[in-house]
Amino acid sequence: MFGLKEDWSLKLPPRYFTLEDYDGGVARWCPGCGDHGVLMSVRRICRDEQIPPEKVVSVSGIGCSSRFPHYMKTYGFHGLHGRALPVAEGIKARRPDLDVWVTTGDGDNCSIGAGHWLHAVRYNMDMVVMMFDNNIYGLTKKQTSPTTQPGERTNTHPRGALLPAIDPITTMLGMTNVSFVAQTVDWNPVHLHDTLVRAWKHPGFSFVRILQRCPQYTAHVFSGLQDDPDALLVMEHDNGVPVDKALDRTLKNRTTHDPSDKMEAFALAARRDAIPIGLFFCDPDRPRYNEMTVEGMGMSVEDKLAGLEDQLDRFAI
Ligand code: SF4
Repeated sequence: MFGLKEDWSLKLPPRYFTLEDYDGGVARWCPGCGDHGVLMSVRRICRDEQIPPEKVVSVSGIGCSSRFPHYMKTYGFHGLHGRALPVAEGIKARRPDLDVWVTTGDGDNCSIGAGHWLHAVRYNMDMVVMMFDNNIYGLTKKQTSPTTQPGERTNTHPRGALLPAIDPITTMLGMTNVSFVAQTVDWNPVHLHDTLVRAWKHPGFSFVRILQRCPQYTAHVFSGLQDDPDALLVMEHDNGVPVDKALDRTLKNRTTHDPSDKMEAFALAARRDAIPIGLFFCDPDRPRYNEMTVEGMGMSVEDKLAGLEDQLDRFAI
């Protein structure tokens, strides 16, 4: 009608998320703990990719790093010891639209959670799994963990840890249906960030082992790697973790590695003269269980009940 506005719908500006939208508060980790940098990096990825906070779920088990969900202003689940992965799988199975980030530690994942780890790799559900490896149980005050090196003095082994340590990278490479295995260090924020971005973009179970400083209990463990940048071996490839130009002057020890080559990945993981960082292995075509579990999710309640009745009728006598 002349002179009258016909469209009264409210035009809202598009939502834009800032870092504050993911900021769940000041983390209570020790000063200098490597966990702080990883938290900042994950918040930045959420902001850069403009993932709505209500679409992000941070899931963890038990341990220092597992306080992660408390510091993200998103959905979160601080679970039981070693049980982060089954919780994350349940979320992904029923809500495939959510962005799932799992935080676990060397104790949480490689010891009590090892059984779940094996099957989660096989399920290959689309999520980022960050394993913070500080070679110790920090929360419970310096107990031997599965990645503690032999001879390391701990409160449970005051004369030194006795057994060979589990190598999470070779373990991952040997698991059925493995699809993404990467390694980075918390003290190089550029490489850490680029590794997590690459993991986030991978459609499957993206496992990132983060060598993580624990100044409280294992300050000496990674000090050699921090003091000598050549002690790190950067894996480069077009399909790998992109190596930022900013690292050209500091991380000069490089090797070309095609992440589709699993045998070479095993050989690199076994190296002890230098610690490889970057992408060991990637296969985006592995089957993903979360794509199978969504089948039938769009059915009405009535249809689901009718289907259930049909199945139960098969057993009628
Ligand atoms: Fe970090 Fe170690 Fe302190 Fe735990 S004990 S918060 S891992 S520095």
